[in-house]
Amino acid sequence: MSPNADFVWSAPADAEFRACPRLFWFQRLAPVGREPRERTTLVLRSLRSRRDWADDTVRNAIRWILDTLRKNGAPPAEETALQLLGKRLQKDFTDSGEGLYWDDPAKIVGLLEHEYDERDVSDEEWQEVFEHALVGLSHFYSSTLPELRQFPSAAWLDAGAGVCEIEGVRIAAQIGAAFRQGDDIIIFKWDTKSRGADDINSAALFAAQHEISAPNKIVVRERRLDINEATETRFSTDTFAAAKTALLAKAKELTALRDAPEKSFALSKSDEPCSTCRFVRICPKFNSPESAS
Ligand code: SF4
Repeated sequence: MSPNADFVWSAPADAEFRACPRLFWFQRLAPVGREPRERTTLVLRSLRSRRDWADDTVRNAIRWILDTLRKNGAPPAEETALQLLGKRLQKDFTDSGEGLYWDDPAKIVGLLEHEYDERDVSDEEWQEVFEHALVGLSHFYSSTLPELRQFPSAAWLDAGAGVCEIEGVRIAAQIGAAFRQGDDIIIFKWDTKSRGADDINSAALFAAQHEISAPNKIVVRERRLDINEATETRFSTDTFAAAKTALLAKAKELTALRDAPEKSFALSKSDEPCSTCRFVRICPKFNSPESAS
């Protein structure tokens, strides 16, 4: 079996590839192990920007809230959830600042801005990230949670890992919650930043694949938790077919590259993606081969 046979296409993976093919290779395909460069790749791969870290932490908090709701019939109090989120953020921030992720990158959060401390972040900017996360969770309580609670427990669908396989390529979709309502499949997604059309289309593809729903019965509701605004996408047979064709073309392109050697993946000519890239320490654009480990 090829080393990357389990490659899964996703909208974020595609965005990485379009920004810089080598960044995509480091993040998704490069070997990781004990050899120094491989070990460094593993650690750098786990790093997150402060905004992505805040978003992931909010999503984890929401997962816990929904698990509690489904188990107990009621969600935890908002105040409790906000306190726990604040504590989680503070602990991650402290651990990352001490560089503990080098010991256990799978379990301990590492922040880009701590690894590359030359990318100076002021106390005010850190404070903004904490507030951004807390406000996002508060918006979830005031807007999305009441919507989700309107669905009876029998209507909840198990989205699992959100991975489907179409024409031999595996596609991951980020799905917050999914419901059956009559013949409709309703997918809820939430985020604290805009994710774009690929993200919505992959969710629809997942629904079509797993819930045997006609394309015009799939509804994707997306809420931007930072600004507390919602959008709804309902597909027609034609718009679904167009979205599927475009998405599959991208997924096949990247899947075909999964065993290509590192040198096949171009370095970004522009320095723009490099300014926030987690792989600057080992990327050949900035290092001689001997120093990149
Ligand atoms: S440092 Fe720049 S060229 Fe290298 S992988 Fe990152 S984005 Fe690409």
